[in-house]
Amino acid sequence: MIGTLDGKIPLGPLAEKWRTHRDHSRLVSPNNRRKFEIIMVGSGLAGGSAAATLGELGYRVKCFCYQDSPRRAHSIAAQGGINAAKNYQNDGDSVYRLFYDTIKGGDFRSREGNVYRLAEVSNLIIDQCVEQGVPFAREYGGLLANRSFGGAQVSRTFYARGQTGQQLLLGCYQALCRQISAGTVQMFPQTEMLDVVLVDGQAKGIITRSLISGKIERHAGDAVVLATGGYGNVFYLSTNARGCNVTATYRAYKKGALFANPCFTQIHPTCIPQSGDYQSKLTLMSESLRNDGRVWVPKRKEDCKKPPNEIPESERDYYLERKYPSYGNLAPRDIASRAAKEVCDEGRGVGPGGRGVYLDFADAIKRLGENTIRERYGNLFEIYHKITGEDAYKVPMRIYPAVHYTMGGLWVDYNLMSNMPGLHVIGEANFSDHGANRLGASALMQGLADGYFILPYTLPNYLAGQTGKRPSIDHPEFDKAETDVRARVKKILEVDGKRSLDSIHRELGALLWDKCGMARNANGLRAALGKIPKLREEFWSRGRGVRVPGTGEDFNQALERAGRVADFLEFAELMCLDALERDESCGGHFREEHQTPEGEALRDDENFAAVFAWEYHGNPATAGPKLHREPLHFETVHLTQRSYK
Ligand SMILES: Cc1cc2nc3c(=O)[nH]c(=O)nc-3n(C[C@H](O)[C@H](O)[C@H](O)COP(=O)(O)OP(=O)(O)OC[C@H]3O[C@@H](n4cnc5c(N)ncnc54)[C@H](O)[C@@H]3O)c2cc1C
Repeated sequence: MIGTLDGKIPLGPLAEKWRTHRDHSRLVSPNNRRKFEIIMVGSGLAGGSAAATLGELGYRVKCFCYQDSPRRAHSIAAQGGINAAKNYQNDGDSVYRLFYDTIKGGDFRSREGNVYRLAEVSNLIIDQCVEQGVPFAREYGGLLANRSFGGAQVSRTFYARGQTGQQLLLGCYQALCRQISAGTVQMFPQTEMLDVVLVDGQAKGIITRSLISGKIERHAGDAVVLATGGYGNVFYLSTNARGCNVTATYRAYKKGALFANPCFTQIHPTCIPQSGDYQSKLTLMSESLRNDGRVWVPKRKEDCKKPPNEIPESERDYYLERKYPSYGNLAPRDIASRAAKEVCDEGRGVGPGGRGVYLDFADAIKRLGENTIRERYGNLFEIYHKITGEDAYKVPMRIYPAVHYTMGGLWVDYNLMSNMPGLHVIGEANFSDHGANRLGASALMQGLADGYFILPYTLPNYLAGQTGKRPSIDHPEFDKAETDVRARVKKILEVDGKRSLDSIHRELGALLWDKCGMARNANGLRAALGKIPKLREEFWSRGRGVRVPGTGEDFNQALERAGRVADFLEFAELMCLDALERDESCGGHFREEHQTPEGEALRDDENFAAVFAWEYHGNPATAGPKLHREPLHFETVHLTQRSYK
């Protein structure tokens, strides 16, 4: 039973909360740390940084990932940069301003205390990464360079060309390897967590399956940390790595952890448009490109088929600059995405199917020269060229919004602990600090803040009371969890159906994109809620449903993926339910019934200034999940209609 949902935000002035909390948190003495074993699921930027830091502090960490190396975590794909309130540009930035931009960017649906802490810690991340040797871009004189991202009027984004995630992950991986070599961190690659084990109501272990041999194993620990990333792939097509999934967090949800704001999905405005029905992945063109690229479509529908350079300046609609003069092309993602959809819906989209808008560098090249643009974004132009065959130095890129990030995730308190004692959740896997819309370059900031600087302080708060409580893996709760995992693997293989996994997943994705994507309405969501259970039933129907060849005792990627799609098929229903229940528009959650006369998201603060956190109550067909609300209290900022005009 869940009592009052308490975010445990420390009392006191906003700027003092984190320091006061640290000063009063419990500690584990150096000699006792080695007695604690921490299970870290995930070794992307969040999990990798947390495992390395906890190892350095002297704890014993078992770290799991499904890739063959931590270096292949999805974090490696991050392109554009990481925010920090260093104010190196002397352009008016500050911790408060980063805090305010983030709260406003999230459409006032995140906690003040958490977001302020994030802004505060952001500066430490840059120092830490520079010390590790992360090659951030520098000015000619050697100082760190910055660029701008959406929703900010300052330049606070640190970057390493278009490969920021890769360089940060290499830094993090070096720190992790140091601990692996020191024996404090034990790495379990190609090992998938399939369940959390609760002993006396506390998270004390996990059940895993080796993706090489199929072997199912038990691991006990003093605490479990999930750093398992986001679930954007529920939509089938997204910019996420193909492996990203919801399994770890969803299985924890089924064990009692609350799932917060599952419908909050970020649709990124600048992705390469889909080119065919059988495509399995979409590619991001980093938001950083909007520093120099100008977004436009023809003013007249009739011009959409013409080559872009034949459309004169006077016939172009730079719609972001027109609608949002203060922020222009750097309007936040939710707003820029909706604006792109709007012009395409009007019939002014370009490229195949009219599902594209131009991102044009001609002016920037004229102003700065091609070399400068190449230096700033060379690898992104190369990716674009490889995929489309077009040279964006000569013709504008064509871009369209795509699913990119999930603001929803497991509910956590200020200590990053879920409602399930011992279960901590960090990085994109938690419901995070981004509210209803994440600002660009803030995910890396949050993942590394959680891993390097927050969890290492808050985890001891829990561990300090746990000495000697680590259970044996022979505990009956482990027997039960392992039996359940084995039964599920067997059940998938026994379906022995006819439909390919991809065809079912694609159908689910198309339904979600249509009904719970960039725009949602009550009728559409109800229709999706009617269809998802039928698709799920089909997946499981013996002889007719999903076809998974091979066995469970071997390397079997179809089986791995089938387990994840099965979880998506349940989770999708929770997303739609959440979207239906939140009868307002905010950030990326755009309910068509609630919009301003200009077509912007219209919040209902009186009824919905709250985190929605869902509790699993058994099979959704018989007992729907129960909604808990955590009211959001704003003591410092005033809730206003978000404006970027
Ligand atoms: C194309 C792209 C570009 C981006 N660019 C930027 C950017 O420029 N700036 C920015 O701030 N953000 C960016 N983002 C967002 C950012 O990259 C992610 O939010 C962030 O990297 C997530 O990090 P993470 O550590 O939480 O998760 P991940 O990096 O996804 O790591 C998840 C880890 O969990 C493991 N895992 C998952 N499930 C299981 C399981 N069941 N069992 C065992 N292990 C499991 C995986 O193996 C992996 O190690 C971008 C996102 C995309 C898609």
